[in-house]
Amino acid sequence: MKIAVIGAGVAGLTAGRVLAESGHEVVIFEKSRGYGGRLATRYAGKDNNSKVDHGLPYIEVSSADIEPLISELTNSGVLVPWKGPFVHCNANGEISTVKPNKKRYIAPEGMNQVGKKLARMVDVRTETKVSGVTHIGEDRTKKRSWMLNFPTGLTENFDAVIIAAPSKQAYAILNTTIDEVQTLKLLREVDDVEYYPSFSLMVGYGETEFPDWAMMTCENEVIESITNEASKRGEGAECSFVVHTTAEFAEKYKDSDAEEVEEIILDELAGILGGWSALPEWKQLHFWRYSKAANPLPYPFMEVVGNDAPIALAGSYMNGDSVESAYLSGLAIGKFWNHKFSE
Ligand SMILES: Cc1cc2nc3c(=O)[nH]c(=O)nc-3n(C[C@H](O)[C@H](O)[C@H](O)COP(=O)(O)OP(=O)(O)OC[C@H]3O[C@@H](n4cnc5c(N)ncnc54)[C@H](O)[C@@H]3O)c2cc1C
Repeated sequence: MKIAVIGAGVAGLTAGRVLAESGHEVVIFEKSRGYGGRLATRYAGKDNNSKVDHGLPYIEVSSADIEPLISELTNSGVLVPWKGPFVHCNANGEISTVKPNKKRYIAPEGMNQVGKKLARMVDVRTETKVSGVTHIGEDRTKKRSWMLNFPTGLTENFDAVIIAAPSKQAYAILNTTIDEVQTLKLLREVDDVEYYPSFSLMVGYGETEFPDWAMMTCENEVIESITNEASKRGEGAECSFVVHTTAEFAEKYKDSDAEEVEEIILDELAGILGGWSALPEWKQLHFWRYSKAANPLPYPFMEVVGNDAPIALAGSYMNGDSVESAYLSGLAIGKFWNHKFSE
């Protein structure tokens, strides 16, 4: 089978890998430059020397189901345990140490290395947005069931398609098939999934001495957490933070000027860490429209049934919203189709 996967996040890369390992011809299409989706790392600061994880800060082991992925990534040196210390700042500004009850892992070379590792052995085409999917079916003298459309006007045909993008983006793609197949039920369910937005403000302070904690969670209307990036990078790293905002703040300021948003966050940061933190050497703001799903769907994946052209949806918004749910969703559809297509 020639299978297209749309989206090179953890879900799409996992599904693609499982199917490719069983001998299917898999192509993963990714609209951005890198792999990993929301496991994202940016190069910032002087000479772009600082790596900062502006998406997911760490991977948490919530259940034994994610252990195979963690083992693979720790054995290959991509992930290492993140030991902290982790602290919490309450509404009065008092700081206390917290002991997480789940194991945390970070990637010293940046979270995007996870995507890079998973992308090995699969054909991933980056900077290739899929704009639509057209059902062509076997009865139209064409061999393949689906035609993928690209903004360039080019097309490519596949036997089966997995859409592994956040549900709002998946909706937009699936909607292009509406006249041809029974996708309405799926579309309705997918359309109901809502997301929390979030801002990530990346800030660097050069050779300033950095705090002795790895991450601070905050009881604050603006700031949800502060990650001390130097605690992940080891020797010689400059003092830099990624400040994640609350969803409420991001919702309220999503259409505001970046400068205004940065100013409010830095003001709040100064209140927590001290005046020095309001004057970084460099800063970059990123807006995550789809940070986490507020109301995930209760399935591991969804498939359009009742037609001869397989198409499915996978992603972290299935059965939770975490790296774990993304991995399990990709694994589930990959294994299901391996079984189905071997019959
Ligand atoms: C700031 C932040 C903090 C988070 N914190 C946590 C946390 O603490 N714990 C936790 O477990 N999870 C957390 N998450 C969520 C976690 O990162 C995601 O749930 C998970 O990584 C999503 O994986 P995915 O493969 O489903 O989707 P994504 O990683 O979103 O991958 C989907 C990919 O599809 C691509 N795509 C979309 N449309 C198209 C198209 N038309 N054509 C081609 N490609 C397309 C996108 O570019 C993207 O790369 C956080 C996320 C963010 C942003």
